Amino acid sequence: MAVRTIFSMAEDCARGERRGWQEFVRDYAPLARTLLNHYFPTLSPEVETHVTAVFQRARANDNAWFGQLKFQNEREFMMTFRELVFAYGREVARVPAPELSLDQVRSIMKDLPVVEREVLWLFIKGYDAARIGAMIMNSEATAQAAKAVANERLQQALPSATADAYNISARVLIAEAEKTGGDACLPLRTFNNLVNGQLSWRERELAEQHIRDCFRCLDRYTSFLEMIRLRKDAQPLGEAGIAPILSQLNLPVEKGRGIFSKLFAGGKKK
Ligand SMILES: [Zn+2]
Repeated sequence: MAVRTIFSMAEDCARGERRGWQEFVRDYAPLARTLLNHYFPTLSPEVETHVTAVFQRARANDNAWFGQLKFQNEREFMMTFRELVFAYGREVARVPAPELSLDQVRSIMKDLPVVEREVLWLFIKGYDAARIGAMIMNSEATAQAAKAVANERLQQALPSATADAYNISARVLIAEAEKTGGDACLPLRTFNNLVNGQLSWRERELAEQHIRDCFRCLDRYTSFLEMIRLRKDAQPLGEAGIAPILSQLNLPVEKGRGIFSKLFAGGKKK
């Protein structure tokens, strides 16, 4: 049997073939559910409906979402999928009243090194030190220490706020961060090389300097780390979970098991 890759899956999906969509739903419905629950909690009570709606969007207009996709590896695909989920959540879920502004975060982060900024941003995104440690592939102790600094500064900025308050602000802060940045922003390829340790010392230093000073890349890079971790931790959806979603995507019948192949089974096509 040929090895199935993210590329063959995406090609099948672009052609509207059931096998690709089956794999896509199996591996990515759990991620859609996690992201929607985490960043758009008002959608949680009906989350399964919303997960299906995300896949319906990708399937719409003859698989148009797949038609325009460009990615070099699964991590880049994951980031584009994240954008699809966020675009959906932003349209459907009401906007929370933010408790923190980007300017406040900027002053909270002033003089912090890049790793502590990453930790702080992930903390705002609603993760605890253990999860953050797992995401930044650093020791949990580092994340814990950085989180203590983050926590102290957030408490100074918002004395009455709870951890939930930051997470409520996260969605708005992320949208604000996306509007910053410019021509010097780092491509996903650089993030991937950074994660894989494939940059020279000098390249790494330049990349980290940019991430430190650019909210857009701080958000994108921490999202990149987040998606790698969520993907590793996600359990593929079982057949019982896949079928109800597939049934709402208007896909062609399964090859070899459709009514015609059943009719012809045992007939001339033997
Ligand atoms: Zn940037």
